[in-house]
Order: sequence, then structure tokens, then C-alpha cells
Amino acid sequence: MDLQTDILIVGAGPTGLALACQLIRYGVRFVIVDTKDSTTPFSRAIGVQARTLEIYDQIGLADELISLGHRAEKVKFLKDGVVRGEADLSELGVGLSPFPYVLLVEQGLHEKLLYQYIRDNDCDVLWQHEMVSFVDGDDVTAEVRKPDGSTLSIRAKYLVGCDGAKSRVRRDLGLTFEGDTVERLFYVADVELNWPHGHDALQINLGEDNLTAFFPLKGEDRWRLVGTFPEGHKKDEGDILYDEIERQIEHDMGSKLDITKVNWFSVYNVHSRAVNAFSKGRCFVAGDAAHIHTPAGAQGMNTGIQDGYNLAWKLALALKGKADGALLATYNEERLRNAQALLKTTDRVFEFAASDEWLVSVVRNNVFPYVFGTALKFDIVKNEIFSIVSQIGISYSGLKLSSGTDGFAVEPGERMPWFEADGKSIYSSLTSPAFHLLLFGADSEVCSGLRQAMRSKWQDDIEIQEHPLQEAVKKAFGCESPFLVLLRPDNYIGYLSDDLSAEKLNEYLARY
Ligand SMILES: Cc1cc2nc3c(=O)[nH]c(=O)nc-3n(C[C@H](O)[C@H](O)[C@H](O)COP(=O)(O)OP(=O)(O)OC[C@H]3O[C@@H](n4cnc5c(N)ncnc54)[C@H](O)[C@@H]3O)c2cc1C
Repeated sequence: MDLQTDILIVGAGPTGLALACQLIRYGVRFVIVDTKDSTTPFSRAIGVQARTLEIYDQIGLADELISLGHRAEKVKFLKDGVVRGEADLSELGVGLSPFPYVLLVEQGLHEKLLYQYIRDNDCDVLWQHEMVSFVDGDDVTAEVRKPDGSTLSIRAKYLVGCDGAKSRVRRDLGLTFEGDTVERLFYVADVELNWPHGHDALQINLGEDNLTAFFPLKGEDRWRLVGTFPEGHKKDEGDILYDEIERQIEHDMGSKLDITKVNWFSVYNVHSRAVNAFSKGRCFVAGDAAHIHTPAGAQGMNTGIQDGYNLAWKLALALKGKADGALLATYNEERLRNAQALLKTTDRVFEFAASDEWLVSVVRNNVFPYVFGTALKFDIVKNEIFSIVSQIGISYSGLKLSSGTDGFAVEPGERMPWFEADGKSIYSSLTSPAFHLLLFGADSEVCSGLRQAMRSKWQDDIEIQEHPLQEAVKKAFGCESPFLVLLRPDNYIGYLSDDLSAEKLNEYLARY
């Protein structure tokens, strides 16, 4: 055996790189291989959601990523090249997340930042190394082709396939990838453009049966254009030249565009597919290897990053011998349900955005641009939209790891709600890679009893914090009397109860 490790990560796209960062956080050994010779040079996924920034904030990467990007603070709707309506996005998630917006930053820069974090922690990616086969037994043995053509044998306790939409790991595990291919061809282009309607807003042109989006990128006059060719367009992806994209956009806009430079363009088919299972034996899939969908809502990359975030702490506990297969099985349970729900949402949004059905197109083009801005002024609409798009609303409620008593404004399985108390973000005390037991409003006798009970059973695995029952806490949890919250290491609520005895808590923890 040439190399032995705990985790073999196949693929160093955003999913694999972000998973590696999490494993570093938990002190887990890994080897990560990728066929490419470096991080992607392309801008690909530019929408970074609040939940991703919350995750990065725990390892000190959020501010740096934000400095590389541009906040989407406004959206303008155009028809025939004329602005018909606009909506303010700057306040969208205020009070819900420390990052109440969508960040626009190029995937290439994003990946570089993750890679730098890996290097700063004395790890590296084996670039130009292709995983060609693997065998799953008492551990996993993989054959990896090196740049000189020779083979490297790697033995790992677990393997995670972050190897993208055409995943070999998925295929060799025999997992299915059911779903559809969207009939239309998509195009994307990064350009420099003299644009008459300002560089401060995401702009969406609504055509009769088509939609073109203009995303402002950091830097003067830099834009990302995304759209589709109409149904029935006969050419294949590789046969389309940039001029054809520009002609299509000008046709949909009904006016000429002043594009001065084209930095990158790509034409691609979009699929909406998910695996039937996220794991098999000692192997797992994550990111595009497990789910792909339309670009509606900028969800793909962010979902892959959260797959890894969900899996990392479970692998870390299993490797330390502190949890068994039942905990690892919850990765499939939680992330499969999430992926299936996501596919439905992105399909529905895409249907609305690109449908040529008469009624849908009338509502989209003639009603939506005028009412959307007004609708966003209502907290209920704003909060609902932000929760879905930003991914802070992802919930594992009703699933095996979520337990507790009823009557709170949040449910076990939801992410720890964000609030500030005394001007301090609650998240600033939740950065360590551990379970957190938060005791809100409990008196000192109860707290010391719980501390003792937890320490004797779980030693240092659980960090215990005592917090007063401040107004912000009462509002976030909808609870006026003392209660406790056990947060999983990924800051989702595992157990939530107003029963402050150690007995039920121990029962919950002992399950896994
Ligand atoms: C134009 C465009 C715009 C997008 N916009 C957004 C957006 O705004 N927001 C968003 O969230 N998502 C967006 N997406 C989707 C996003 O780019 C993907 O979801 C994301 O790149 C998936 O990351 P990944 O790491 O799972 O897979 P990939 O990025 O595909 O990475 C997989 C890696 O695995 C490597 N690999 C494959 N096979 C092997 C092997 N056998 N051995 C070793 N290495 C291997 C590949 O070289 C590759 O580097 C967009 C996609 C496109 C194309």
C-alpha cells in the first residue's frame, strides 16, 4: 500500500475542498485527489448563500470571501430592454443571519481561498491524480493514476466521491441518478459591458418565453450573463460560438448591447437529477456527484458545501470510535431528503422563469415585475424567500437525530437561530468543532448538576454554556421559561427541551 489515510476525497471542486477544510477543523487525516492540475480558472458558480458564509465564518474565511465579491443588493426587471420594476434585496435577511444577502463571487476565486486554507494547514491536493477504481471492504482501497501514468494505491477508512456530475464513484457504487434533462440549452458568459441601467443590481430581462440574467461582478463593467436558447434549438453544446449567444441576448432584449470584451463563455445542458442514496458501505457521495439541478436560485455549489459540512463531524466521531454506523446513516437520511426537496424547488422556479405557457408568461412578464418589490416589503414574504434561497431554512426536523419537546418557535432539526444579545452574535460562541449544550435561564444548581452529569458520561465532547434568558432568546425560541438546546457540531438543533434533567439528554446522546 503506497498511502494510508482516514478519508480519501475524490475531487477537489468546491465540495471536495470545503469538505477537506472541515476535516482539518476536526483534526481528521485525509488525502484529496483531482484529475485537474489546479483549482478551476472559471467563474462558474457565483452565488454564495448566507448559510455557506455562516459555515466559513467558523473557520475565519467569511470576511475574506466577502472581500473578493459583490453583494446583490437590488434586482431590476426589464422588458424589451426597459426597466419595469425593481426590488430592494439589501434588507432581505436582516435579523435572520449575520450575512443577510447573496454574495456574488467567482467560483475560481472561491476555490483558491479554500485551497489556500488547506495549504496553510500543511495539507495539499494531489493534483493530476485520477481515481480509476476502488474496492470497498473492511476499508476502501483505491487505485489512483499519477501524472506519469503509474499507479498509486491508497487505503482509507472511508471514501467520499466529490467527483462532480459524471461521478465515477457514484457509477461504481451502482447508485442511480434519476431525473430529467432540461430541453433548453443554457449559456453563460463573463463579459465587460457598457450597461445603461447601473452596475448596482442583479438585472433580469423577461422575454416572451425566455429569461436573461445580468449579474454584476466585482470590477468596473464586469458582468456575468446567463440565459437559455429557445426550445427546439438544434445545435449541440460544442457547436455554438459566442456570436450566437450575443445575437440571442440582443434578440431577447430587443436592443443592441455594448459588449467590449468576452472573458469566458460556455454552453451547457442542464439536468435535474439526484442519487437514490448518498452512501453505500464505507463510501459516500456529495455535491454534484449526488444532485444536479437548474441554476435557479444559485443552489448547486452551496448544497455541495453543506453536504460535506453535514458529513464531516459524523465521520470524525466514527473515526474516533465515539459513534457507530447509525450516525453515519443519518447523512443519507438528511441530505437525500434535502436534495429531493431542492430539485422540486429549482424545477418549479425554472418552470416559472422560462415557461412559454400563455398564462405563466403573462404573470411573469406583466405582473411579477410590478408586485415583487412591494411583496418584499412584507416580513413574512421576505423571511420566507430568504430562508429558502439562503439555505438557512434547511431543516432535518422529524428525522432520527432531531428530538425534544414541543411548544417552541423552532423545531429540533432546524439550524440554531441567529440573534444578537448585548451586541454580540450568538454564533461567535459556537465556532468550536464540538457539541454545544446551551442552558438558557437555568439556575446555578441545575447548571452544575447538568455539568456534572455530562462530564461523567461524555467527558470533554460537549461544551456547556450558560446564557441568561434575554429578550432576543425568548423571541428566537418563542419560550419564556428556562430551557436547554443541544447543538450538533454543525449547529443544527439535536435536542431541544424545557425538561432540564440530564436523563432525557443522556438517552438522546446514547442512541448513536
Ligand atoms: C455556469 C454555471 C453557473 C453556476 N452557478 C451557480 C451558482 O451561482 N451557485 C451555486 O451554488 N451553484 C452554481 N453552479 C453549480 C456549481 O458550479 C456546481 O454545483 C459545483 O461546481 C459543484 O461542485 P462539486 O465540487 O460537487 O463538483 P465539480 O465542481 O464538478 O468538481 C468535481 C471535481 O472532481 C474531479 N474529478 C472527477 N472525476 C475524478 C476522478 N475520477 N479522480 C479525481 N478527480 C476527479 C474533477 O476534476 C473536478 O475538479 C453553476 C454551474 C455552472 C456550470
